[in-house]
Parts: sequence; structure tokens; C-alpha cells
Amino acid sequence: PAELTDSRIVMKRLDSATATSAEVAAALQRPVQQTSDIMKLVQPIIDLVKTKGDVGILELTEKFDHVKLASPVLRAPFASELMELTPEIKSAIDISIANVEKFHTAQLTETLEVETCPGVVCSRFARPVETVGLYVPGGTAVLPSTSLMLGVPAKVAGCKNIILASPPRQDGTLTPEVVYVAHKIGAKAILLAGGAQAVAAMAYGTESVPKCDKIMGPGNQFVTAAKMHVQNDTSALCSIDMPAGPSEVLVICDGKADPDFVASDLLSQAEHGVDSQVILLAVDMTAEQLEAVDEAVHRQALVLPRVEIVRKCIAHSTTLLVSSYEAAIALSNQYAPEHLILQIEEAKSWVAKVNNAGSIFVGAYSPESCGDYSSGTNHTLPTYGYAKMYSGVNTATFQKFITSQDVSPAGLKSIGHAVMTLAAVEGLEGHRNAVKVRMDKLGLL
Ligand code: NAD
Repeated sequence: PAELTDSRIVMKRLDSATATSAEVAAALQRPVQQTSDIMKLVQPIIDLVKTKGDVGILELTEKFDHVKLASPVLRAPFASELMELTPEIKSAIDISIANVEKFHTAQLTETLEVETCPGVVCSRFARPVETVGLYVPGGTAVLPSTSLMLGVPAKVAGCKNIILASPPRQDGTLTPEVVYVAHKIGAKAILLAGGAQAVAAMAYGTESVPKCDKIMGPGNQFVTAAKMHVQNDTSALCSIDMPAGPSEVLVICDGKADPDFVASDLLSQAEHGVDSQVILLAVDMTAEQLEAVDEAVHRQALVLPRVEIVRKCIAHSTTLLVSSYEAAIALSNQYAPEHLILQIEEAKSWVAKVNNAGSIFVGAYSPESCGDYSSGTNHTLPTYGYAKMYSGVNTATFQKFITSQDVSPAGLKSIGHAVMTLAAVEGLEGHRNAVKVRMDKLGLL
């Protein structure tokens, strides 16, 4: 439409050579997250599910999703008419599942065993988290990718009970793609509920929902607030994957990059939502090269169905001009992006310098979309700078590691005196005695 071409869809531009450090910091600033107000809305929802169980879930689903269900849970095996798909979609899901499964199976670790000193053998081995709850957002959206990115590693890790939760559609059903993935990963049940009520049901359990040990998955502010709440409630005894915020991408490009490729990566992030973060670091680029990227952004954005979301997101996004690859990587490490795209010469050689990022997309032919769906890496990644200390979802997310030690009499001879000395320093006579009685009987004292 004509009016769409009126105003140019263009990112702000800032030259790091002339900008102040405060201006650069502001360009990399994420919007402040408000959680306390949401918590006030979420608390009564959680309380209702805790006190009324299944009946509470059904009431809340009617209130927020406007669907009256007879039961909140679909149990496996799921009826085949609930997962009827075209061969093309089925094959796309199958290819993605196969690649994610291959990459996450390779992450399984062998038992580690080390003799730290003679007669002292320490080991470490993984065990699956027994019951996991996977939240798949969206009443209207179709998100088979979220269900497979969470479900496949849970299956690979060997979780005994996999529960999926997703809000029902207006007709009370779920999208067939999600049911198909639930079937493929061996989910025991699907909870037809969304928001805080779904999280509460999985954290505390109800008559028909098994209590989960860990809850994973993205969602809106109600889902996120409920996850934070149950994580802090010792009566739930439930952990979560990681804190969540709006999705983000940081692209580093140089003059050799194809402007169409760069623009397409910026836009694929911008279409997520108006709160998406999109940052371009342009290394040593001429005015003409920068203009070519701007032109491609405008041209490609206009034909996207979600152009109005893109327009708002791009309006608060920034292109930052930097003079070297080193400077670009340093800024990226400081920002710690969820997705980092390297469209630069010798892209592969710069990966070693990246310290903080959720997932990296290396070179011209690795758009983020490949990791979002089918390459094999996980797309559930830390946002909001949490890539500085969190990993994205991986096989270990669904495991915990147990350590063990096997100390022989010779081993006690090796470390017994050290243990007794340190126990005495800490004034823990019982600790010291547990070694002393043994050393006495072995004639080692
Ligand atoms: P959602 O499933 O996160 O939330 C829907 C639920 O929110 C409803 O079932 C309802 O119970 C609850 N809710 C709605 N209004 C409420 C109110 N006023 N009070 C209490 N509860 C209320 O789906 P959504 O809202 O469409 O949000 C989807 C989220 O998932 C977005 O934040 C988006 O960024 C994120 N997302 C993530 C991915 C991904 O990483 N795979 C993909 C797409 C979207």
C-alpha cells in the first residue's frame, strides 16, 4: 500500500568513533523489565490452582482463553486425528527433530572417574530429571519448533515423564503440529492450559497433572512471573530453565557482506515483536555500503506481512559503526547477545574470540532461521545479557550430575590427616572423629 512507503523503515545510526561512551552504552541498553505488578496478578492465579486443582485450571482457562473444557489433560497415546499433517510439514518436523536429536545425543557424557590420590577415586555421572514440564506458548500461534527444541533434549536425556503444556485454541484443541511433536518425543500428557495456571499446575501438581521437577519454556509475562514464583517457593521444589526476556540479535557485518543477507537477518528478528532488540555492528563500512543495507532493510520490510511490527522495532534499533573486527567483538561480548550473526570475512576465525553469546551464526549462509528450526542447535537461549552466565537449553538442562567417592584404607592414609586437621580448624569434632575412629582401627595414627 502507498502509505507504507511514505516513511522509510530505517535503523538509527551511531558512529562509535565520534559518539560518547554513554551514547554507545545507551544504544546497547535493553528496556527495563517490570515484574512486580505482574506478580500481583499472578499470585491469585497460582493460589486458585493450588487450592482447587483441575477445577481451578478449567475455570482459569474459561476466563483467560474463553474455552470451556471437560478435562484439562490429554493423555498419551494421542489420537491420530489430533495430529493430521501434510506430508511436507511432517517431513520438515521430522528433519528438524532428527538434527536436534543428533546434536543433543552427542552432548551425553560418559561417567568421569579420577583417582585424585592413591586409593581415592572420585567420579561424576549424569541422571535425568525425572519429570519435566515443557511450556509451549500461544493460543493462536503455531509453535512446533518450541515443543521440539524442549522435547527432544528431554527425550535424549532420558526424562521419565515429559509433560507438555499449551493453551487450547478457541475450539478446545491444540495445533496438530504440537500434538505430533508430543507424540514423537514420547510425552506422557498434554496440559491444555496456558499462562500462570499452567505453570502452577506443573509446579504443584493436580489430580490429573503430575508434579514436575523442572519447568522449561518461553512465554508471556504471566508465564515468566509464575516461573520465577515457583522457583522461589520451596514448597513447590521446582526449578526452571532460565530467566526470559524479549528475543534479540546482534549482527556484525563488513563491506564484503551481501546487504540483502544482512537486512534479512535484521528483519527476521524484528518481526518477532516490537520489543525485540536488533543491533548491527558495521565494521569499517563506506557510506555507500551502509546505504545499501538501509535500502535493503526498507525494501524487504515492506513486503513482510508483519511490516507494522517491523516498523516499530526497527525505529528503535541501531546501526553502530565500528572501525575494526576486534572492536566489534569486544562490544558484542559486552552486550552478550542471544543470537550473534557473523557476516564478516574469515567469520570462522573470529568465533574463538566470542566469550558471551547464546548461539553464533557463522558466515553468509548461516541465517538465524536455520538455528531456530532445523540445524540441530537449540533455539531456547539466554536473553537480556544473561548469556554472560547462562547456557541455552541443552541436554544437561534435563540432567543433574551426581558425584561419588570411593576411599580405600590406602586412600584414608593419603587424605585422613588433612581431613582431621581441617575439621579441627573448623571446630567440628564429630567430623574429625569420623576419620579418627577408622584410622585408629587401621593402626594409622
Ligand atoms: P502464552 O502462551 O505465553 O500466554 C497465553 C496465556 O496467557 C493464556 O493462556 C492466558 O492464560 C494468559 N493470559 C493472557 N492474558 C492474561 C491476563 N490478563 N491475566 C492472566 N493471564 C493472562 O502466549 P502469548 O501471550 O501469545 O505470548 C507468547 C510469548 O512467547 C511471547 O512473549 C513471545 O515473545 C514468546 N515466544 C517465544 C518463542 C520461542 O522462543 N520459541 C516463539 C514465539 C513467541
